[in-house]
Amino acid sequence: MTKSNSSHISDIAHHLHPYTNAIRHESVGPIVMERGEGIYVYDDQGNRYIEGLAGLWSVGVGFGEKRLVEAARKQLDALPFYHTFAHKSNGPAIELAAKLAEITPEGLNHVFFTNSGSEGNDTVIKIVWYYNNALGRPKKKKFLARTGAYHGVTIASASLTGLPNNHRDFDLPAIPVHHLTCPHFYRYGQPGETEAQFCDRLIAELEEVIAREGADTIAAFIGEPIMSAGGVLPPPEGYWARVQEICRKNDILVVADEVITGFGRLGTAFGSDFYGIKPDLMTLSKQITSSYQPLAAVMISDEVYRVIAENSGKIGTFGHGYTASGHPVATAVGLENVKIIEERGLVANAAAMGKILHQRLAKFRDHPLVGEVRGAGLLAAVELVADKDSRAKFPEPGKVGGWFFNRAHSHGLIVRNIGDALAFCPPLIITEAQIDEMVKAFEITLDETATWVAAGMPA
Ligand code: PMP
Repeated sequence: MTKSNSSHISDIAHHLHPYTNAIRHESVGPIVMERGEGIYVYDDQGNRYIEGLAGLWSVGVGFGEKRLVEAARKQLDALPFYHTFAHKSNGPAIELAAKLAEITPEGLNHVFFTNSGSEGNDTVIKIVWYYNNALGRPKKKKFLARTGAYHGVTIASASLTGLPNNHRDFDLPAIPVHHLTCPHFYRYGQPGETEAQFCDRLIAELEEVIAREGADTIAAFIGEPIMSAGGVLPPPEGYWARVQEICRKNDILVVADEVITGFGRLGTAFGSDFYGIKPDLMTLSKQITSSYQPLAAVMISDEVYRVIAENSGKIGTFGHGYTASGHPVATAVGLENVKIIEERGLVANAAAMGKILHQRLAKFRDHPLVGEVRGAGLLAAVELVADKDSRAKFPEPGKVGGWFFNRAHSHGLIVRNIGDALAFCPPLIITEAQIDEMVKAFEITLDETATWVAAGMPA
């Protein structure tokens, strides 16, 4: 038995994988990745793949970036761990907090560090509740989120997530949350409705929910600037400005979940810059370290921070924090990563390469299997449908997308299938030639998928 075979058997025997069909894993086993370089990763069988999803929407600067390795090594040498409880701090956490205050939208000047996006959104919920308790508004606790949203998998953040798979069999939602209609015109627009009318309907729904439940019970609206893990779903034009205006009028905090859209993904520094959102709170993770270390950050407005500070001054310690909040190695890597993004102009590269990616993908609009091509910047999706005219989905959603996903591997391409939509979110360093290489592998796979569908989807 080769070493890789025995490690595959061991993986099946002992490793319960996240977001994996456990029974299927027992028969197909793992794909074991060994190394990466730029936009490519290599498995233990010697296969090379274009990482069209930057790992999990996250490896912004690409694989094999030695500056991040060196930043981690130096910090591990000097001080591998120290906590930030009870007034303790460390250089990288301080510097990264200041840097984030500088580059995020105006007014977000305070940072709370966590390890993951899910913990970041749990922290958001707790800050929002703490804030309203401090202001003497104990009833103002509900969250507004959207169906199709992805905000994480911990008990509270998964409650905000608007995907059935994250609620079913987990007894969720477990916090007071109302999910509004998913703002995706292609799928949720009604026959004969224009995009502008669809947007009017979403806004009317928001106003109705606030009127029905009472603004004095609703604490915050949370949204990803572009829903990502739910299918890469850009909202209709004008949506964010109107949502924001209504929230302000009703004293409802606006939370931008920028776990994917932060640090240049849409070709602007943050997704909030892309849509003109001025959030009260913002969740960041993934590209904050290009996922070389686990790290997330909650950005907090001056106003919300002031209420927290004064309340904790009155009642004592702010009772929230993780052992690894502000971890020196993670924040050192984060700081170096943000410097690389700045020095190499990767936000501008994402804008320029994003344009090219969307130009190249546009031709698939004419493909018989393709219903919609969408996205912004270096974030895109191509949705496959059973019938172009009626937009009908395939009878077993995810089957065609799943087939495509597996097939793409054999052409050296990793994309994500979200149901039958194929998502792209390549590293921010991608070049025009590499976009062409990625789109070529996509096209070959798409044609093979069409042939397989036409043949009646044989097993
Ligand atoms: N929010 C958004 C928008 C995300 O895309 C994700 C992860 N895909 C999360 C939160 C959760 O982050 P994590 O997996 O680090 O907990």
